Amino acid sequence: MHDSLDLSPDSLVVAGGRPERGRDASVNPPVVLSSTFLGTGPLGPGDRGYGRYANPSWEPFEEVLGQLEHAGEPALLFSSGLAAVSAALSLVPLGGTVVMPGHSYAGTVQMASELAEKGLFSLQLVDVTDTREVLAALHRESGPIDLLWLESPTNPMLGVAELPALLDAARSAGILTVVDNTFCTPLVQRPLLLGADLVLHSVTKYLAGHSDVVLGALVTSDAELRARLLHHRALHGAIAGPWEAWLALRGVRTLALRIERSQASAQLLAERLARHPAVERVRFPGLPSDPGHRRAKEQLDGFGSILCLQLAAAGGRSGAQNADSLVEALRLWVPATSLGGVESLIERRRRHLAEPESVPENLVRLSVGIESVEDLWEDLRQALDALPAAESSAG
Ligand code: PLP
Repeated sequence: MHDSLDLSPDSLVVAGGRPERGRDASVNPPVVLSSTFLGTGPLGPGDRGYGRYANPSWEPFEEVLGQLEHAGEPALLFSSGLAAVSAALSLVPLGGTVVMPGHSYAGTVQMASELAEKGLFSLQLVDVTDTREVLAALHRESGPIDLLWLESPTNPMLGVAELPALLDAARSAGILTVVDNTFCTPLVQRPLLLGADLVLHSVTKYLAGHSDVVLGALVTSDAELRARLLHHRALHGAIAGPWEAWLALRGVRTLALRIERSQASAQLLAERLARHPAVERVRFPGLPSDPGHRRAKEQLDGFGSILCLQLAAAGGRSGAQNADSLVEALRLWVPATSLGGVESLIERRRRHLAEPESVPENLVRLSVGIESVEDLWEDLRQALDALPAAESSAG
């Protein structure tokens, strides 16, 4: 990392990962379309050599993300968030034990469950908002735990884990920790500073920010751990394309502005939605009534810009039917999965067959983008007003 300036994250996202200054040097790094690199003699870790080992197009983004997460090491880019999940789970020894929130991103839980079914490790799913339950899982008598997986706030239930306490306990017990920081980004939460070993991102979401690439990343301060993950990436081949890496860097330039705008809009929308009679419940850590509010206030710089609604049953229709009608009646909000892009996205989560049954059928996840908040509200209001008035609070 060549930049030793002590910059705020708002400046780092703009100034990081630039080429060295010099007359007529390009302001932006080039996209390097090369599957191989010149060389003779021994080739080992740290050498570029071949396009599966390294590509100069990955490095500027890796540098910026490493700096934003306070790693002191560049991040490692992967072909998707789930490729990064797969690399992180590869650190678990055969026959080991993983503790993971049952409400982590469904793909993460599904991958861990399938690996556990094959007998690679055993998996214990926990309610990550219940600190005592997680601590009990870490200190069980039947044998040591190898990996504590954390995601906070969780996707899609927005449960907030007591990260400092959990990371502290895992560290004292010598348990490796991974925090999926996709929802917060390093502008809102910095898990390495709280004691995490590894931070994971679906770069697809806020970091790239424009719903146009699929990428993932891992970040660690531990050079030895990074070397193991680099070896895994080179050998298993889940690498980023040079164009995608460039687009992620292009996207990260506006991260601070996007987060500032979308967080402010999410707060206002959550407050208004909580007062609408068609809404049974709003899940958003920025609301003082939310169970995760106190922790989020202590741990985060802001409350993120994902919120969830549960629609009330009304007019002889279930909450889930009303949720579908809401999504279909919107004109500005985009009915699609994913999150963290400039455009506001909405979906009823249980449309995914892999989503756990503990996610309510009437739950709709909203990813607040950067449009005018009044336009976003007006669109939601007209769609909610068209729903039958709630006669009970059952979902
Ligand atoms: N982690 C979280 C919190 C996610 O929301 C997602 C995707 O939605 C992933 C990981 C997986 O990332 P990707 O879709 O880039 O593979």
